[in-house]
Order: sequence, then structure tokens, then C-alpha cells
Amino acid sequence: MLPKVDYHMHTPLCGHAVGEPEEYAKHAIAMGLSEIGFSDHAPLVSHEDTRYTMNKKQLPLYHQMVERVQAKYKKSALTIKLGIEADFIPGFEAQTGEILSGYPYDFVIGSVHFIDRWAFDDPDPSQKVKWKDKDIDTVYRDYYRLLRLSAESGLYDIMGHVDLVKKFGHRPAADLSGEVEETARVFKKSGVTVEINTSGLRKPVKEIYPSLDVLKIYRKSGVPVTFSSDSHDPGDVGRDYDKAAALAKEAGYSEYQVFKKRKIERVERL
Ligand SMILES: [Zn+2]
Ligand SMILES: [Zn+2]
Repeated sequence: MLPKVDYHMHTPLCGHAVGEPEEYAKHAIAMGLSEIGFSDHAPLVSHEDTRYTMNKKQLPLYHQMVERVQAKYKKSALTIKLGIEADFIPGFEAQTGEILSGYPYDFVIGSVHFIDRWAFDDPDPSQKVKWKDKDIDTVYRDYYRLLRLSAESGLYDIMGHVDLVKKFGHRPAADLSGEVEETARVFKKSGVTVEINTSGLRKPVKEIYPSLDVLKIYRKSGVPVTFSSDSHDPGDVGRDYDKAAALAKEAGYSEYQVFKKRKIERVERL
């Protein structure tokens, strides 16, 4: 059975996505999904950047946009949840917590998109060029350290695209499986879930986040999973779920989690 939920999709408020929430819902139904969750980028707490996230004033509008489509689809076979994707910026945990406690979200995705102020996954040349001066192993280690800190912060339910650092195909020279094992231990202890996110297939790396070897380590540590497309376009909702399900099964997973009001509502079998 293919996964029936997709917990990661955006709205035009973030400045780099297209399509109204209803278009995402319609495509979800066409794809045979039973549940979706919106998770647009929460306002950046460290600085404002309209290329990456909505600003604080837009947050109520985001809630209204999703609530409207929730109401419209209330009697349909599609359940629509309201979540959010919030950056982990060390030192700004209190400000992030304030945003997250301001609305009864169904789930919160914690994502590391920044190392210091560097948006390492931004394809814009101004950011991408910075890879040239970096030691790739160090970038990976910094990334995993931030992932661990984000889980330990207690701010999040789901950890987003947990090997995003590979997006442009940069590969570490060293064997960093120890970093992943340590991260998996922290995730397990913190009680967070990992998303199997198909958007990497649409990026230069052409791999799901996380890759099979990484996912096997999470499985071994007993970290649960859920599924997502990270759609920034309605046509991507539920995309490549056959590949995501196959990857999950190969890593040893037979079930995935469904969220409601920041709790596990139920577990579904794959
Ligand atoms: Zn993200
Ligand atoms: Zn996203």
C-alpha cells in the first residue's frame, strides 16, 4: 500500500511556491491521498527574508487560508491538517517557541536550512557560490550538529529532509555514519519523527531525503517515520510515493505516523 498522507506542502506566502491551498487539496485527491498537511515556512525569527518565508504579519493569513480549505473539504474524503515548517536557528529557540505556541498546529516540522546565516540549500548563486570555499565534511558535521540541537530543543514533532545538505550532490570524503548514528540516538531520545521527503528526487542530487543508508540507521535506532512531498507546486503533492514506500520498506519500516494537534493520532501500515 502506498502512504496515504502528505505532510509537507507550501503556499505562495513563502515567496517561492505557487498555487492556492485548494489546488494542493485537489491534486491530493487525484493522487488517492486521504490526508494532507500544510506546512509553510514560519516567519524567520533571526532576520526577515521574503525569499524564504512569510513575515510575522502574514501568519494569521496563512492560518485563514488553510482553515478556509479545511472548511470547504470538511465533508470530503480528504482530511486537511494545519502544520508549519520552522527553521532551527540556535539562540532563537524562545522566539521560535513563541510562534509555535501561538496556534494549535497539528504538527511542526523542524528544518535546518541555515548554517550560521548561510542558506546552504538555496540555489541562488549568491548562496550556492559559498560551497566553493567550504570543506564539505565540515559542512556535513555542522549540519548534523544543528539537526541534533533542533531535536533536543523540543520545539518540533517531525524533522524535515534530514540529509538536505546533499541537495546539490556534495558528498563528504570521510565516513560520517557515526554522525548519523549519534543524530539517530538523539532523535529517538527526543521523540521526534523523520519525514521521508520525495522532493530530493526533483533536485540535483535526485535522491529521496533521507537516502537508504541514512534511513536504515534511523530504523535501527527505532525512530518513526511519516511521508511528504515538500511540494511548492500543487502538481507535486504525493509525487513519487511508490519510490518512497519502497525505500521505507527496504529500510525495514512497516508503518508510519499520522498527527493531530501535535500528538500521534494513529499509526498506519505501509
Ligand atoms: Zn525545508
Ligand atoms: Zn518545505
